[in-house]
Amino acid sequence: MNSQLQFLIELQKFDLRIFQIQDSQRKSPDLLKAAETPLQDMLSRLQVLKNTGESLVKQQRSAERELATQEDSLHKVRSRLSELKTNKEYQAHLFEIEQARKKKDSIEEGVLETMERVQENQKAVQELEAEVQEAQKAFDVEKARLESQFAELANELAVLNEQQQKVAEAVDKPLLARYSRLKTMRKGFAVAEVNEGSCGGCRLQLPPQLVAEVRRGNELLDCSYCHRILYMAHHLEVETLD
Ligand SMILES: [Zn+2]
Repeated sequence: MNSQLQFLIELQKFDLRIFQIQDSQRKSPDLLKAAETPLQDMLSRLQVLKNTGESLVKQQRSAERELATQEDSLHKVRSRLSELKTNKEYQAHLFEIEQARKKKDSIEEGVLETMERVQENQKAVQELEAEVQEAQKAFDVEKARLESQFAELANELAVLNEQQQKVAEAVDKPLLARYSRLKTMRKGFAVAEVNEGSCGGCRLQLPPQLVAEVRRGNELLDCSYCHRILYMAHHLEVETLD
């Protein structure tokens, strides 16, 4: 029985690590995603800035066209000066020119304002692009680090599976089946040491009768609560002395 127990404990060492690695592997896409988040956030902000820039440029072009039209009409108004006959007509004409000029000035102001906003936007885009470059570099480094870590884990897992299989072959089939069921239920932790009358797995106090039977070590018994296979330290010591 002691050799079987030894095998189970060895098996459990492998299985606990296997479960740990499998757990890490499940979390690895999230790790990658989290590492990429700052870059993705910046890229979305950059896209928003660029969209704003495009609409500002459109706004500028349309204001420029409007300005050209207004300059044209101001020019036309001015050119009618020679057609004027009376002083009254002349006064009205001056007023008309003044109105057209004011309108042109106001459009011009709008054009300048938009140009300024276009320049500010371009500056902001350039700054953010530099930040994006830095974030991209940082992410590339982190991604490479994570990927080599994932690769190491995958290698370790392959080795562990092989070792685990070898040990499993040495375990009696019914005991292995019992162990495997428990392993799945208890995330790799199927064998527990009894410590001061408590199960090392679920930490609950075991019935004294059960503790006494486990101590005798004639058979491998289950915890009454979590059903882990129980053993005591002296079972292993006896094995080493053999
Ligand atoms: Zn237990």
